[in-house]
Amino acid sequence: MDLIHNRPSVAPRSGGPTVTDPVYLSSPDIGELEESYLLRAIRGGRFDPDGPELGAFEREMAARVKVGYALGLSSGTAALHMALLAVGAGPDSVVVVPTLTFAATANAVTYTGAEPVFVDCDASTGNLDVDLLSDLLGQLTDTGRRVAAVLAVDINGRCADYDRLLPLCAAIGVPVVEDAAQALGSTYRGRCAGTLGRVGIYSFSHNKVMTTSAGGMLISDDAALVARARHLATQAREPVSHYEHRDIGYNYRLSTLLAALGRAQLSRLDTMVARRRALRDRYARLFATVPGTQILGADDPGSNCWLTSVVVEPERTGWDPGELAAHLAGRGVESRPMWKPMHRQPVYEDRQAALTGAADHLFATSLSLPSGSALTDDQVERVFAAIAEFLEGRQ
Ligand SMILES: *Cc1c(COP(=O)(O)O)cnc(C)c1O
Repeated sequence: MDLIHNRPSVAPRSGGPTVTDPVYLSSPDIGELEESYLLRAIRGGRFDPDGPELGAFEREMAARVKVGYALGLSSGTAALHMALLAVGAGPDSVVVVPTLTFAATANAVTYTGAEPVFVDCDASTGNLDVDLLSDLLGQLTDTGRRVAAVLAVDINGRCADYDRLLPLCAAIGVPVVEDAAQALGSTYRGRCAGTLGRVGIYSFSHNKVMTTSAGGMLISDDAALVARARHLATQAREPVSHYEHRDIGYNYRLSTLLAALGRAQLSRLDTMVARRRALRDRYARLFATVPGTQILGADDPGSNCWLTSVVVEPERTGWDPGELAAHLAGRGVESRPMWKPMHRQPVYEDRQAALTGAADHLFATSLSLPSGSALTDDQVERVFAAIAEFLEGRQ
């Protein structure tokens, strides 16, 4: 299941007109340029990963985010799996994972045989709570656990607190894996999201900032690490003419046709991010006039603003985010709470977790609003009109 999707989930207003043009949280932004790149790739007649498109996409991405190496993979989840294996996650190790994230982050840890240990988030950013992480790492090492990695997630496109996170992990020799699935195009102190840890990943799922319909990428400056991931992701085939295998491999390379789509999207990334940022600014201006609400992480100019989430304090507003969501649904506008924390998920609820209640609170009080760059001006006006109508009704 994806966290955000484009399937109709917006109920028509009961008794009212059927909504014919639903507005979704984050729809693919695909047009003629993508069509022409894809067609060119098909006509090129190369369908294997050694065809020109995939290599070109990897080089263009590496240049764009100023990193040594990039590896195109079939999904962000596959990229996380490869990144974790490449840093040595496996049975008898633990990987620290923020509890406020999409399930793929934790699942990729589980695929390796390592155990995810969850850590709560900072209430004001939604990103991993570094003080809590510091205590947790101390406890884990004191009890003799091997910590294979800390997985940092850049939530909604805002980078985690790397100024504090990186030295903390470096001091005990634990690599940081950056889940920048949501953060392509974001920066942190001038550096590109995805490149802040030992290895990072992007997702090109249909709802992300740019999409290949399905796809992902692993990026790192560590040539040996990327070579290892490339080997594992290509069925671990040894470089000899017959089929020779020393490792269990995976079939995880990105389709070269989809790489062509990715090249078109990458050339438009700045424009698409600018549109998301403009939407975030407009939401921030609107909710600045509503006491008891705030836009999560709105103070970060480096964010790509993948999703904009409003946080509501019902004691001050007199309404809760569920009421706003229901009103928007009635107007054909999709909205959704942030992620249900991993420590609350039936599949992970018995795992170790260091908690403050911040992720639970964000889950209960947040609402993500339509944020996609493909929204038409008309759709944007409908969203803002629907919110204004709700707020007027509550005054
Ligand atoms: C989307 C997402 C993923 C998974 O990416 P896929 O390409 O859908 O496999 C992983 N982590 C986070 C934080 C995500 O938002």
